[in-house]
Amino acid sequence: MKFVDEFRDPKLIRQAAQEIRRLANPDRHYRLMEVCGGHTHAIYRFALQDVLPPNIELVHGPGCPVCVLPMGRVDDGLSLARDHGVILAAFGDMMRVPGRTGSPLEHKARGADIRMVYSPLDALKLARENPDREVVFFAIGFETTAPSTALTLRAARQLGVRNFSVFCNHVTIIPAIRAILDSPDMRVEAFIGPGHVSTVIGCRAYEFICRDYGKPLVTSGFEPLDVLQSIVMILRQLEEGCARVENQYARVVPWEGNLPALRAMAEVFELRPFFEWRGLGFISQSALRIRDDYADWDAERRFSMPGVRVTDPKAAQCGEVLKGVLKPHQCKLFGRECTPEHPIGALMVSSEGACAAYYNYAMRKSDAVAV
Ligand code: SF4
Repeated sequence: MKFVDEFRDPKLIRQAAQEIRRLANPDRHYRLMEVCGGHTHAIYRFALQDVLPPNIELVHGPGCPVCVLPMGRVDDGLSLARDHGVILAAFGDMMRVPGRTGSPLEHKARGADIRMVYSPLDALKLARENPDREVVFFAIGFETTAPSTALTLRAARQLGVRNFSVFCNHVTIIPAIRAILDSPDMRVEAFIGPGHVSTVIGCRAYEFICRDYGKPLVTSGFEPLDVLQSIVMILRQLEEGCARVENQYARVVPWEGNLPALRAMAEVFELRPFFEWRGLGFISQSALRIRDDYADWDAERRFSMPGVRVTDPKAAQCGEVLKGVLKPHQCKLFGRECTPEHPIGALMVSSEGACAAYYNYAMRKSDAVAV
């Protein structure tokens, strides 16, 4: 396969859907978690749930990096621009994420110098262009984006850029999956494994899920045919009664991961003892912080921040949606108080957020695959 159209070919989609129906045991209910927000987006965009038999339920996992960031960390980032007068550089996904006193976009409207960038290197460039200002990059994301932050910190040190630092909020996927597996209210039979993260960490890192928890995981691509093929692979394992890691996305994901990227991360970052995740609480060794060697570029050491823990609004059920316990539309605020125009939780902001994906696609089904 060479072109994206082939991954959306109705004939192939129909064949995959038929195979799923053939494999699915009608007396069994299957709960499959797609870990990655990119998959959630694809599932809603292409209405893939509609081509599955009703006893296959897709539940959404915690793989949207913006969504799992607790509100207190958003407030900490905003305090840098407000209290310290820095240029705060952030990805577009972050710009509308609500903090307690408004989103970065709202703070920008009130006069804070907050700029949207496409990469951490753009933020470093801003620092070099503004030598009389402090520039802080608001780093978020899983292992997918952490290597680019690491390489930027390495470049900042090599170039001797002293007015640049990083507010590090990178998280790691494996402890979050483990927390979900250990959660008492979680009943998932198998995982559609993340595609983007796996390009960096590879597939071997998931083997404990099969070995210790007896659950299959299939690393998947993001096109409709990718997701359906992954479900076929999972069903085959479940019907055979086995659990192993398989790689449907082998055209992109190396089994051992991206070793130069992993080396760059290991040079610059170390694990934090604890980090709070929205919806999952504090998870040990689940996030990255900047090593002592790079302390001069660590915003948390260079600037004081409130560091206050902030709970979500009481009626917001972001945590339950993030753990796959509730569907987005089952949140009391969905589509009424909380919409993409007026988001209350981050899941309604990010393109990878389950609530935004459900709001934008689930009812319209404009791009649904014809089966
Ligand atoms: S609808 Fe809004 S408040 Fe409810 S879970 Fe989604 S993002 Fe959170």
